Amino acid sequence: MSRPPFLSSRAEALQPSLTLAISARAKALQQEGRDICSLSAGEPDFETPAFIVEASVQALRDGVTRYGPAAGDPVLREAIAHKISAENGVPTTASEVLVTNGGKQAIYNLFQVVLNPGDEVLIPAPYWLSYPEMARLAGAQPVAVPSSARTGFKPDLDALEAAITPATRLLVVNSPGNPTGHVLSLEELELLADLLRRHPRLLVMTDEIYEYLVDEGITHHSLAAVAPDLQDRCFMVNGFAKGWAMTGWRLGYLSGPAAVIKAASALQSQSTSNVCSFAQSGATAAIEGSRDCVREMAASYNLRRQLLIDGLQALPGITLVPPRGAFYAFPQLPEGCGDSVSFCTRALEEEGLAIVPGGAFGDDRCVRLSCAVSRETITDGISRLARLLPVD
Ligand code: PLP
Repeated sequence: MSRPPFLSSRAEALQPSLTLAISARAKALQQEGRDICSLSAGEPDFETPAFIVEASVQALRDGVTRYGPAAGDPVLREAIAHKISAENGVPTTASEVLVTNGGKQAIYNLFQVVLNPGDEVLIPAPYWLSYPEMARLAGAQPVAVPSSARTGFKPDLDALEAAITPATRLLVVNSPGNPTGHVLSLEELELLADLLRRHPRLLVMTDEIYEYLVDEGITHHSLAAVAPDLQDRCFMVNGFAKGWAMTGWRLGYLSGPAAVIKAASALQSQSTSNVCSFAQSGATAAIEGSRDCVREMAASYNLRRQLLIDGLQALPGITLVPPRGAFYAFPQLPEGCGDSVSFCTRALEEEGLAIVPGGAFGDDRCVRLSCAVSRETITDGISRLARLLPVD
């Protein structure tokens, strides 16, 4: 489809989503009657826990159907502040919390209110694919700093520091990470904190949306808890989508210094206004409720993540850094598989296997597979992948 001649330069510069192209083709093939095995999901395969749904239904019945404060329902902001203080170890007040339309809007708003045209945003690669586009939408320049499967997808601190220029304004940290499943250790966070101390102009955004989805024995740490002296430069992004299986509810939050939250709230008041009022009632029930449901779902992903890891590790030529969090694996393909988009296109056409090209996440040698699908789908997907690999 050709683009109309009146698009803004911002819209012109937006990269079309590679992942959407693959899923649209997968759907089309399925409609033609092809047997498609999809490991491309980016969302939980559970229903939202019933007590959360009930709280929202009750709120609707109680007439919670009107405009609310743009920054979020004060009760929910307070509950989030309490959660961040108690669970993440980062002392936070309600004025330091903005309720957003998913984690996505938290990131978008933050970038809009702290970045100026010409600023650079440091993004360790592989990265979640929306960060660079949102940086560009704020007029800033994304600067990807690669790490590789060979080095365990650990952030390359020397390369990160070498990439800092006088224009660098913001560092993006995502742990547990999408797509690699890498969970930053305490030691890695301390080293990152030292780097930030050496560069006092740098702000940092920590995207912690997969915080509850970590393997047995792995602990998620928030950077602002590890380095309280940096709290005035730390912005935390989080949400309800992954931990509580609430992707469609569009509920996230941004927390950080009150002045920035106020600016982001003003932006929100002039763009989207408050997040859906009765959805916020469900979120309040979720965050104030027991974490048992979250733990049960996390335990289920852990089992399925291990099944995916075992299957991938048995394939010849695959380099896999075992993911320890989130619900993805990001294996590096053997030589001779071509670039990730042509490999994923071939996987779909020849084997009916829908997986996501690593190029979308900044590493064209890899592909992303999800374990938020049934055990049968994982096993089936691994068999299809095996048939696509070169035989030596
Ligand atoms: N951050 C990461 C790393 C993600 O993977 C996602 C969603 O896939 C988001 C943020 C956005 O989540 P939400 O659905 O809450 O907007």
